[in-house]
Amino acid sequence: MSEKIFDFTGNPFVDAGIWAISQWVGKKPAELDKDDLRKIIDEVIFLYLTPKWSKNMYQIFPNNPITNNAVKDKKDRYSQILNELIEEMSPLSSNGDCISCGRRNVLNRSTKDRVPLTGSKKVINYFSYGIDGADYCPACTFAIQFSPLITYSCVKMLLIHSNSDKIMHYWSKKAKENIDKQMSTKNYTGCLNEGFKNPKNALFHIIQDIILSYDVRWYLEKPSINFYHFTNFSQGPALDIYHIPTPVFKFLAYIPQHEKFEEWLKIVRRGYRFVDWNKVKEENEYKNNPNTVYNNLLEGKSIIRFFIDRKNKEAIGGWDLISHYLEEVRNMEEKRINAIKKVGDELAAYIESIDDMKTLNRLEMANDYRSFRNVLRIIMKKRISNGIKNPLFTFDDYVNYLFPEGNLTWRETQDLILFRIYEKLQPWIIQQGNQAKIEIQEPEEAQKEE
Ligand SMILES: [Zn+2]
Repeated sequence: MSEKIFDFTGNPFVDAGIWAISQWVGKKPAELDKDDLRKIIDEVIFLYLTPKWSKNMYQIFPNNPITNNAVKDKKDRYSQILNELIEEMSPLSSNGDCISCGRRNVLNRSTKDRVPLTGSKKVINYFSYGIDGADYCPACTFAIQFSPLITYSCVKMLLIHSNSDKIMHYWSKKAKENIDKQMSTKNYTGCLNEGFKNPKNALFHIIQDIILSYDVRWYLEKPSINFYHFTNFSQGPALDIYHIPTPVFKFLAYIPQHEKFEEWLKIVRRGYRFVDWNKVKEENEYKNNPNTVYNNLLEGKSIIRFFIDRKNKEAIGGWDLISHYLEEVRNMEEKRINAIKKVGDELAAYIESIDDMKTLNRLEMANDYRSFRNVLRIIMKKRISNGIKNPLFTFDDYVNYLFPEGNLTWRETQDLILFRIYEKLQPWIIQQGNQAKIEIQEPEEAQKEE
């Protein structure tokens, strides 16, 4: 067996700690040795003992020497614990009873002063079999002690975990850069904190920040990413887990290179609820409001409506961006996307040729599957009587691509057709000077019915 101490375990706390140590030492995780671990102890304890860091520590390791008020010689006590763990740890072997790495044996069971969310000895809250604590080997227990270094503060604590080395490497790099800044200015502000209180908005911010800050071909990554929003606070430990679907990550990674990136930001802004945009002066005034675009991306719900400004008859982001979203995130067949686009194009050309806003209004107002089909049928008839020979769509297109699940997907089709018409007819719509603000559902209301 090699002398390798750390390999990734899939346990978010342990892996975060390994990345934090690796970043601190400046070595790859697999290359870390006991000397590296010994070297970082004093610096990290110094950091933890500064007021704001130790305040964060209450949420991560209540009752450890840093946070236990009864402990007087905090530095020495914690240093002793960490050094003992180093002495006890052995290189990875092929098996073991540690519930994190499974490749080393447990010497002492850990409780929440060392491992978050593992109860408090006699107070048994989360535990299967009612055991007091959890079985972590010395090396995994040691690693966890450094996880606060790359934990994000968002009222509770937010921990990012991914199977992508690139994501974890760049995230831990970002956190370390923040710590370096704190140390060089001697202004110790605790775990990375950017004023986010809403964990969902925070995690989208974090992802976008990683994508934009580091020049990596992110769209080639296919990471699985989880965010753990937790507190280990004595009065009420809690945990929420958010999973970022891989297609959503790929889409987010693709957007910054798109010429309509600015319009995407507009789409995201439309997702914020309860914001009076006339009064907003800075991001802090809305960045913690619930955002339906983010919410829907996390929950696998559609955000098509946020691309469409029905009030101003505007297609935000353009067909190229929305079709990429449909394909990547909604898993929509290319043939269906193209069939809808074609119908949108035909309808736009027809509406412009007869100069008829009423037809567009009818398409907008159709409020159920039946009336929408009816409007299309009337247009088809009129087109024929106007001498247009090619049909609006074929029967096959109708059944397979326009309304494949009939009542279930008709509104999606309507939205996309309107999107395409708005895009094609933008100059005509402006020329019409039609700002008749027909009362049509705006996104926020539209959510209620979904
Ligand atoms: Zn272990």
